[in-house]
Amino acid sequence: MSLDTLPVYRGLRVPRVTRWSAERDITPAVCIRAGRLAYADPVMTRACTYQGALWRAWTLAPGKGEPRLAHLHPARQRRAMARLLCQVCGLSTAEEAAAEGGPLFLVGAGEETGFRGPIEEGERTLHPPVHLACGWESVRHCQHLLDGYEAARVARPVPWGLYGILHAWYGGAVVPVDPRAQIAYDDPHLALLLAGQAVMELNDVRPIDLRAEAVRAGLCEVGAR
Ligand SMILES: [Zn+2]
Repeated sequence: MSLDTLPVYRGLRVPRVTRWSAERDITPAVCIRAGRLAYADPVMTRACTYQGALWRAWTLAPGKGEPRLAHLHPARQRRAMARLLCQVCGLSTAEEAAAEGGPLFLVGAGEETGFRGPIEEGERTLHPPVHLACGWESVRHCQHLLDGYEAARVARPVPWGLYGILHAWYGGAVVPVDPRAQIAYDDPHLALLLAGQAVMELNDVRPIDLRAEAVRAGLCEVGAR
C-alpha cells in the first residue's frame, strides 16, 4: 500500500498497523496436538503458524468501518516488525535507518506505568518503527502519544519473541494461564502461546529529541507545535 492509498479517517492518515472495526477476530478454539497449541483444522493451523507459534486469526479489511486506534492488527504488526516497515505508512525504514544510524522507535509516555523515562538499552517493544516524518505526524495527532512520548534511534533492533496468551495443559484441558505473556523465540513455551504480536528488543539505543530532528529535517518551524 502506498502513501496515496493509506486509509484516511476524519482527515487524518490512519497508521497501517491499526485495526479496523470491519476486521473480525475469527480465532477458533485451541487444542493441543503433538505437544503444541493447534486448531482443530490442520489447514487452519498451518496457515496461522508463524515464527514457531500459533497466531490469532483476524480477517483483513483495512480502511473499512472505523479505525480501532488503540489496537494493532496481528498480521500487519508481525509483517512490519519482521521487515522493519514503518507502522504508519507501511513502507521500508531501511533507507532512513542507514542514513540516520538506525530505525526510529517511539514509545508513549503513558504506556504500562503511566510514566516512563527515555527508551532504555535492551528494552522490548510491540511497536514497529516509524519514519521521522510519519512519527512527527503521529505525535501531534495520535491520542496515546499526545500525553508524551520517548523517541530513539536504534542501531540494532533484534526480533526477540512473541506476545500473546500463554496456555497450559491443566486438569485434562488446555487453559489460558497468562493473557499478556512475552515469550522469547528460544523458549519452549512458545509452543503453547496463542500469539498476537511480535516483540522487538532495542539494542544500541540513542535517545533523540524528535522535535529537534523534525526541525532539522524541515518538517516544522523552530518553536512551532
Ligand atoms: Zn512512514
